[in-house]
Amino acid sequence: MNPGRDTITLVGAGLNGPLLALGLIRRGFNVQIFERRSDMRRIATSAGRSINLAISTRGIHALSQAGLWSGMQNIINPMKGRMMHALSSELTFQPYGKAEAEVINSISRADLNIVLLNAAEAEGVRISFEQRCTGINLKTGDIQVRDEQSGATRTVNCRVVIGCDGSASVLRNAMLKRVRFNFSQQYLDYGYRELTIPSVGNGEHALETNALHIWPRGNFMLIALPNIDGSFACILFLPFEGADSFAQLSSPSSVMEFFKSNFPDVVSLMPNLTDNFFANPTGSMMTIKCSPWHVEGRCLLLGDAAHAIVPFFGQGINCGFEDCTYFFELLDRYGADWERVFTAFEAVRKINTDAIADLAVENFVEMRDRVADRRFLFRKKVELALEAKYPRLFVPKYAMVTFHRIPYSIAMKRGIVQERMLAELCDGIDRIEDLDWKKADRMIRNELTPLEPDS
Ligand SMILES: Cc1cc2nc3c(=O)[nH]c(=O)nc-3n(C[C@H](O)[C@H](O)[C@H](O)COP(=O)(O)OP(=O)(O)OC[C@H]3O[C@@H](n4cnc5c(N)ncnc54)[C@H](O)[C@@H]3O)c2cc1C
Repeated sequence: MNPGRDTITLVGAGLNGPLLALGLIRRGFNVQIFERRSDMRRIATSAGRSINLAISTRGIHALSQAGLWSGMQNIINPMKGRMMHALSSELTFQPYGKAEAEVINSISRADLNIVLLNAAEAEGVRISFEQRCTGINLKTGDIQVRDEQSGATRTVNCRVVIGCDGSASVLRNAMLKRVRFNFSQQYLDYGYRELTIPSVGNGEHALETNALHIWPRGNFMLIALPNIDGSFACILFLPFEGADSFAQLSSPSSVMEFFKSNFPDVVSLMPNLTDNFFANPTGSMMTIKCSPWHVEGRCLLLGDAAHAIVPFFGQGINCGFEDCTYFFELLDRYGADWERVFTAFEAVRKINTDAIADLAVENFVEMRDRVADRRFLFRKKVELALEAKYPRLFVPKYAMVTFHRIPYSIAMKRGIVQERMLAELCDGIDRIEDLDWKKADRMIRNELTPLEPDS
């Protein structure tokens, strides 16, 4: 490695940009970031302020390696499981994992972003806000940067540029014009809107604090994640068109009617429901897959820019932070041989980011529909019982993805085998006591190899 020699330019100071910058500057590189938005620490922006993210093992690992996780305990809210709200208002709690430690952590996107920006700047990363990258010459590394205030544009020559500019990446758009660049973009027919359940006073939560609340309604759902100030950040996922869709909710009365019919226990908890509903735009969700992620040793895509996924496994940023973990491992191994690092990075990550992209789409059906199903809940109990008996052999798919750092592609493959076993073992029974343990033992030992411990 030649610390100090190369200046690395990042586009995007969202979540991945500053974490990547921090690791690079600590390895002796000069790092600058261009960010199109204003600095959220100085000017209130609407950049996903009310959206919360669930941070789990992969994200925690990366944040711990950066020395940030332990200092973040006052801005996270652990969620131990899903609290399902039936139409009758009946509640069912389904734990996420087998132990107290297997929780996912609710954090506001803005709080997380601020921690990362502060940490990167404190170590010397130069972040220029309101500077939009409008294009790149992939042959020279020159990027065009426009000052969002004055409109003035300049050219910045970069030795190495990394696009951390999210799902609508400008760098990826430039790569799209190259020959043999593979690209697919798949929108869901669903959109989402942010809503809020305010605190009931004194920072108290109106619902159970340590849970991710779900109102699964078959074709659509509402979720709520706890904030540290006692409020909940909620997201309504609904088809864009058709019956029970955003297209139908065009007036305050239609919104109120829809909530009264489908989420009756929520209406009294959302005093500003209709104002809230119309204050926010409807977001869209998509899966983006592309390759190659790099142009020689000059330009690389990382995070959502390379692989945007739908949010239903809560893995988008966990996966992006895991990108950083692998990137640093390769940089430490190969030094500033950028082409080698970029090639190896894509080789190790692409198969896994493709897998989590598919798992995330599958999990949407599970969240909005299957979690309300009695048979599904029974299977979840059986999964936990099998895991308790065979902790290295049978780990539920959700746990492999969320509480381990097993490559996503392996979690997906093992998940398929385990699904088949579960279907067979649960067939015709509805009590754990009736489980055929001999059959389970035979299947598990024959078909599953012990999992490598997370390094
Ligand atoms: C509704 C929803 C819920 C989610 N929930 C979860 C969850 O629970 N857990 C989880 O792990 N993930 C979740 N995600 C996914 C997560 O938000 C993303 O994976 C993550 O934000 C990606 O980080 P990033 O840094 O790659 O991109 P971003 O966070 O999008 O950051 C990109 C940055 O680049 C800047 N930028 C863009 N273009 C330019 C340009 N031309 N010039 C300069 N700057 C530019 C943007 O302003 C932005 O700051 C969710 C996403 C959504 C939409």
